[in-house]
Amino acid sequence: MGDRVPNIHDPNRSLPTIQYEFEWSQATPEQLAGGVVWNAATGYQRRRSWISSKLFRGVQDMRIRTLLIVTVMLCALSFLQVVRGADSPLKALIIDGQNNHGAWPKTTMMMKKYLEDSGLFQVDIARTRFTWQGDDLLEKYPLNDGVDRSAEKQPRPDPDFAPDFSGYNVVISNFGFGAAPWPENTQVAFEKYVREGGGFVVIHAADNSFGDWKEFNRMIGLGGWGGRNEKSGPYVYLDADGKTVRDTSPGNGGSHGSQHEFEIVIRNAEHPITSGLPRNWLHSKDELYDRLRGPGEDMQILATAFSSPSQGGTGRHEPMIMTVQYDKGRIFHTPMGHADYSMECVGFITVLIRGTEWAATGNVTRTEIPADFPTANAASSRKFD
Ligand SMILES: [Zn+2]
Repeated sequence: MGDRVPNIHDPNRSLPTIQYEFEWSQATPEQLAGGVVWNAATGYQRRRSWISSKLFRGVQDMRIRTLLIVTVMLCALSFLQVVRGADSPLKALIIDGQNNHGAWPKTTMMMKKYLEDSGLFQVDIARTRFTWQGDDLLEKYPLNDGVDRSAEKQPRPDPDFAPDFSGYNVVISNFGFGAAPWPENTQVAFEKYVREGGGFVVIHAADNSFGDWKEFNRMIGLGGWGGRNEKSGPYVYLDADGKTVRDTSPGNGGSHGSQHEFEIVIRNAEHPITSGLPRNWLHSKDELYDRLRGPGEDMQILATAFSSPSQGGTGRHEPMIMTVQYDKGRIFHTPMGHADYSMECVGFITVLIRGTEWAATGNVTRTEIPADFPTANAASSRKFD
């Protein structure tokens, strides 16, 4: 043990600061009680550390003394971690650039602001060099990251799109229907990132993208459009009795009726994301995605919305808040968030912050319910400019 101490022969080394290491089994009672230990491996006598000799002077038993030192060091470490938590927010990365929902440059900035205003996150944005849709919103909500981008008429693969996912606690996708595939290396890096415990957040049309990417479909649990059909996995929804149905019948994945305000029903209030939320609340005008389908492995449905036939829906209770476990990675998925006005919903904002924190850490600390949270009868929005 003693011979693992580096530079033990360095005459300039300050002996009192050397941490105390030796084989307990070889120590004599005198050594245990005294301040000097003979190290058989190095032939050096070493004095106890300052902490050992001064702070715990009254404690004669070296084992207890060592235990006390370790305890003090662990306390100091956890204190530093608390301080780090207060000073260093979680790192989040929004990825975007190609989405049939033209509001995406704005909705990216909305999510960035919501997350940063929570005080939990510092948010970066990684955008493809070739953008698709967004139009004048690209100038109204610029990135100012010094990258020269070109707006394309059609989705176009960006061979240089390779964010360093590993530098983030959580990644939020604002890619959407039609997004061109990422380079294969980037796909592999992202799979590795999530598999090893990275958080991933999927919003609305992000579950339309990359229909041919098998592991991506496992991460999001359910998806729509993008070529998804019975080969992608079952339709998953809740029936009138609240039982989960996995329907393998053939057909395309993904559709929606007309946009409207609709009620969110919490189905699992035990989860950190939904714990304490009102059981029913009215979501602001949005597309109510239905007929989503996919592998749905290790997936929990925390909330649903009734897709009313009167609005062109399925008559089923469609998943609205989901979590997926992908190896060590946590995924939070909500098909809410079609437009800027949909994301202005205080319910959406609250669930986004909770879901993103949970995906990043497995926990939710922002548990307070905002005073302007929607009720069962009244939607509630905060205007974003
Ligand atoms: Zn939409």
